[in-house]
Amino acid sequence: MTYTEHIKQLCEDNGIHIEWTDKYIGEWPLAGALPKVPAVQIHEPTNDFLYMVALHEIGHVMTDTKSDRQLEREARAWDWAVDNVKVDITPETWQKAFTALSSYVARMIKRDLKGQAAFVPSNDHWFWSVYVLLAQFAFPVVDIVPRQARENIYGVLASRV
Ligand SMILES: [Zn+2]
Repeated sequence: MTYTEHIKQLCEDNGIHIEWTDKYIGEWPLAGALPKVPAVQIHEPTNDFLYMVALHEIGHVMTDTKSDRQLEREARAWDWAVDNVKVDITPETWQKAFTALSSYVARMIKRDLKGQAAFVPSNDHWFWSVYVLLAQFAFPVVDIVPRQARENIYGVLASRV
């Protein structure tokens, strides 16, 4: 099964409309999900990275929950993507996935450090399990427990303020 066949199959099985795009924002492919339609805007998955991004956007549709906050929505979509990967993914692609999730975390923690309204999951929130899962796929030597992840990032970001 090719990347494209798998993505098309998932969308067909779940009644998700695909809007193909070829636009980029810097190095990151423009992509999105509209859970209520339901639809995804994705690139033709010609490589494992675009395949992973497509899975993530489908994950947004499949896991959409009104009560979720942004970091929870992102983590749920990645978790769904991890569960539904059918083709081998390179560490470089896992690193991009981890970087994407990390950038949301960093943005939220920076807001919190500045005293602005921000939702950062507590130490024992399930979010950190997904965060560490992606970290371990990206960097197989990484050895952190979810409960420490939050404190580690706060430490790094606070030291830069
Ligand atoms: Zn997302």
